[in-house]
Amino acid sequence: MVDLQQLRLDDARALLEHAFHNLPAVEPDATAYLQTLIDQLCELSLKDPLTGLSNRRYFQTVLGREIDVVARSGEPGLLLMLDIDHFKKVNDTYGHPAGDAVLQAVAKTLSSCVRPMDTVARFGGEEFVIILPSCQGAYGYQVAERIRTSVKALAVTVASGDTIKVTISIGGAFAPRWVRSTPELWIDRADIELYRAKSEGRNRVCIDAPPVLAVSAEEKNLLFGPLSLGDPAWIESLISDGSVGHQAVQ
Ligand code: GH3
Ligand code: MG
Ligand code: MG
Repeated sequence: MVDLQQLRLDDARALLEHAFHNLPAVEPDATAYLQTLIDQLCELSLKDPLTGLSNRRYFQTVLGREIDVVARSGEPGLLLMLDIDHFKKVNDTYGHPAGDAVLQAVAKTLSSCVRPMDTVARFGGEEFVIILPSCQGAYGYQVAERIRTSVKALAVTVASGDTIKVTISIGGAFAPRWVRSTPELWIDRADIELYRAKSEGRNRVCIDAPPVLAVSAEEKNLLFGPLSLGDPAWIESLISDGSVGHQAVQ
């Protein structure tokens, strides 16, 4: 049986009180109470405090998971890296708190542009990342454009009464399908595209096409067996034993 009196929970409780402005009520069931504390601590450790988005740690976990999914299923996954243009000028002109308000408004806009299954995270500073699982090429570009135009349309009125407008540059890369990549390689490819978007004038989207895999006939045969080479004798044997209907074989 858990004895709450014996646990040093003061730091954890103080952290949660500061973050959520209230504490979970102490329940008669110590296990249930501890579970609530653990859940809230997990939530806290995966969120960016300024924007409420996922933080870089959570992003890295989701990215690793997505690489596995793409390698296993071949479902296309897109990674977007986004960076606010000339953000230093916003801070210099309106002050750091105004810059913070812009970051919060941009974060909200990003979240409103994507599907619930997508992960939007703050990568650091004025950079954000979005992981879009099961995302076909044309759809990925549309989403990135929707984000770019939504941020461009945003007008943030800050405490001083000033209204601030910003633009965003977006770089994207699809994960290579059927092969296992690494988070570092995927991030690098998206980052190269972001750099391209910046150097081509900012306020634009640049997306790397999915790498084309050159698979030799021999490799295909090893992967998929005689079907990939259309071995007539093997196909005929399938038809004659009824495993495959005539229409399925061209
Ligand atoms: P570029 O178009 O090339 O991206 O130019 P930039 O000015 O956006 O890029 P730079 O890297 O020179 O400046 C980024 C600025 O973002 C500098 C830094 O003070 C500001 N910044 C980073 N994190 C925060 C934050 O949490 N709050 C505020 N207000 N500013 C931040
Ligand atoms: Mg930057
Ligand atoms: Mg920037």
